Amino acid sequence: LMRSLVKKRVPLQMGRMCYSSSSVPSTKLFIDGKFVESKSPEWLDIHNPATNEVIGRVPKATHEEMLAAVDSCSRAYHSWSETSILARQQIFLRYQQLIKDNIKELAKLITLEQGKTLADAEGDVFRGLQVVEHTCSITSLMLGETLPSITKDMDTYTYRLPIGVCAGITPFNFPAMIPLWMFPMGMVCGNTYLLKPSERVPGCAMLLAKLLQDAGAPDGTLNIIHGQHDAVNFICDHPAIKAISFVGSNQAGEYIYERGSKNGKRVQSNMGAKNHGVVMPDANKENTLNQLVGAAFGAAGQRCMALSTAVLVGEARNWLPELVERAKGLRVNAGDQPGADVGPLISPQAKQRVNSLIQSGVDEGAKVLLDGRNVKVKGYENGNFVGPTIISNVTPDMKCYREEIFGPVLVVLEADSLDDAIKMVNENPYGNGTAIFTTNGAAARKYTHEVDVGQIGVNVPIPVPLPMFSFTGSRGSFRGDTNFYGKQGIQFYTQIKTVTSQWKAEDATLKSPAVTMPT
Ligand code: NAD
Repeated sequence: LMRSLVKKRVPLQMGRMCYSSSSVPSTKLFIDGKFVESKSPEWLDIHNPATNEVIGRVPKATHEEMLAAVDSCSRAYHSWSETSILARQQIFLRYQQLIKDNIKELAKLITLEQGKTLADAEGDVFRGLQVVEHTCSITSLMLGETLPSITKDMDTYTYRLPIGVCAGITPFNFPAMIPLWMFPMGMVCGNTYLLKPSERVPGCAMLLAKLLQDAGAPDGTLNIIHGQHDAVNFICDHPAIKAISFVGSNQAGEYIYERGSKNGKRVQSNMGAKNHGVVMPDANKENTLNQLVGAAFGAAGQRCMALSTAVLVGEARNWLPELVERAKGLRVNAGDQPGADVGPLISPQAKQRVNSLIQSGVDEGAKVLLDGRNVKVKGYENGNFVGPTIISNVTPDMKCYREEIFGPVLVVLEADSLDDAIKMVNENPYGNGTAIFTTNGAAARKYTHEVDVGQIGVNVPIPVPLPMFSFTGSRGSFRGDTNFYGKQGIQFYTQIKTVTSQWKAEDATLKSPAVTMPT
């Protein structure tokens, strides 16, 4: 079914027979192990960003449907949390294989709904797959601690245990990777999971759910609802939900962090970014310019770890013309077309917003060295394309520097020294990622030591940590206490029970009550 849907260039939907009032396929809800048609009167269109054709529709789940989904999670929790850890591990071992077997199908769905190139879409799946692979070490990751003989005949040990029903709310830009940061980590720890994917790209999450079911996950362990604000508020408010993982914009993330926390839930919230690439004049020029261009314009700049800001230090400012030449060489096209480097933006609104941020740079005195606003893509005239754009002479007070653009736009600032560059990065409110390009170890060390950003690359433009580490965005890019995946992800989805036990020999029995505090 999945394969034929992808071939016909329609988005995933379970049970195509069910769609009624509309001529486009509908995305199903996944409730209690079944892919069901929503009874909602409210639906949203899903568009192919390369053409703006409507390719499907997604419901705003009704309150009853959302209740049914969370009730299913609650019912499944008892037996799932009691399932042996080895049995859960086996399911995720099968799951990682199924994801590998279906990577091309998943990538096609991503390109169809999200727009990124097929090669990049495979990377999206692959980075999520690595998290699933990591869950297969859960038997080590969930080990407790023991300390024998804390006093005579007394030992203390801890269990790491699940917390209950957990929920995830995901953005449009990584339809596979980000859901896979969430439910596999939560579920392998013994929690059940309610996922609300981005309403703009729900197809990939549905196929991931089908594959998880095929891997043997019991009914109710994963449920999926769709929607926007009502679904988000439902998740923030429902008392059965103990923890929320969110990835997306600051506007939504701050709100969800506050509303969820007020209701006593754990919340981890990964949000927006403005990542600086600092270029030292001693850097390997060829390598640096290629890294910068790839990291600024790949995925049409719609990555939270895109290097959207270049800071050219000292003589490195003379490299600008070459930077522009390299960016000019990128091919803008629909993501499924051979040779495409830069696909479309997610929506006409996103395109308009990006274009107006470019214009704001012009209005405030910056210089557009490469202007992608009028790019034409043959055969895709209605797509949301913006070509690679480079804006120089930018200063920190300009709107195009202060706001996350989330498009294929590189803003370029200059600094006289490494100290000036560090100051600039630290004065920016975001703390997601940054990179320094240099051949000087002392400069690299100074930068990594002094810059207040969660993820730093040295000659590595997009330093997204592998899943044995954690995704450690900081400051304005993160709210919460424990980060996504790795050890911190396990901490987020578990709680500790500490047992202190005393087994005394018969002749050591207490002869009278001890009323003082035990020491
Ligand atoms: P978004 O905030 O618009 O949407 C994310 C989710 O929140 C969606 O499921 C959506 O339905 C919901 N939502 C949207 N607006 C809401 C609101 N006002 N109230 C409650 N819920 C709301 O984000 P997006 O446009 O899908 O994704 C792009 C953003 O995500 C960028 O800012 C990017 O930097 C960020 N992002 C961050 C990371 C990270 O790890 N730091 C990773 C990927 C994307």
